[in-house]
Amino acid sequence: MDLGITGKVALVTAASKGLGRAVAEELAAEGAHLVLCARHDDTLQQTCADIRAATGARVLGVAADVANPADVARLVQAALAEFGQVDILVTNAGGPPAGTFAQHDAAAWDAATRLLLTSVVELTRAVLPGMQARGWGRILNITSIAVKQPVAGLLLSNSLRAAVTGMARTLANEVAASGITVNCILPGYTRTERVEHLAAAAATREGISAEQATERWTSEIPMRRLGEPREFAALAAFLCSERASYITGTSTAVDGGWVRGLF
Ligand code: NAD
Repeated sequence: MDLGITGKVALVTAASKGLGRAVAEELAAEGAHLVLCARHDDTLQQTCADIRAATGARVLGVAADVANPADVARLVQAALAEFGQVDILVTNAGGPPAGTFAQHDAAAWDAATRLLLTSVVELTRAVLPGMQARGWGRILNITSIAVKQPVAGLLLSNSLRAAVTGMARTLANEVAASGITVNCILPGYTRTERVEHLAAAAATREGISAEQATERWTSEIPMRRLGEPREFAALAAFLCSERASYITGTSTAVDGGWVRGLF
């Protein structure tokens, strides 16, 4: 299937590793040009070089922290200076710390809000006018299965990803007539450094090994295995494509069947 995004410009945040990188690789393989960000320039530039070598895509890497609105503004300005427009926005960020309600003070809530919610608002605010002027755009927010079934011990993630979902679902209707779709994609347990980190945290908390924590998760997944980043990226690329032109306002999980609800 030709996804119809050859020559489109895609901005993917938090993309030096994990899910963001996998989505960037898939979009480049489909012919899109890329603007990628992460906080650490060395890792980011290596990722950009790898993707250029593998796909021949034009790839710009800009070191930026999405939790910092000034960095977001600089990132989008760099994208516009290089390519003149952003057609596809994929919002992603590192995960917030694990913990219960009692373990998070006001500063922790504030930091997590800037990381997970404000970043999406600012990125969207910066690219939306151009999309509206051209009558074409794709906004895809990477959230989590937590929006369909909260995950124990991930209070900040459970709360703030729901806020992103509410914003996306509302915005989707506001911009639908301009040829812009707004969707969310929900990773389940997927093999990245984030999952290794969560397994280590669960192990310390519960006095078990990281392998035992991972085995407990896989026992709750009907497919009995973690997802692979490229399995997640396949749906992400489709939702960013011309072929997904009539899909908006959705939240779709890529989770091996983990969410037990009907929708
Ligand atoms: P990861 O830790 O493997 O990769 C995160 C990437 O984000 C890295 O490139 C890192 O450099 C970058 N990054 C982190 N903080 C940033 C910031 N403030 N500004 C810019 N870049 C930043 O994580 P992942 O597994 O790819 O997860 C991506 C997102 O999906 C996270 O929010 C995570 O909580 C969420 N998620 C992941 C899973 C999973 O199983 N992997 C499941 C549900 C939700």
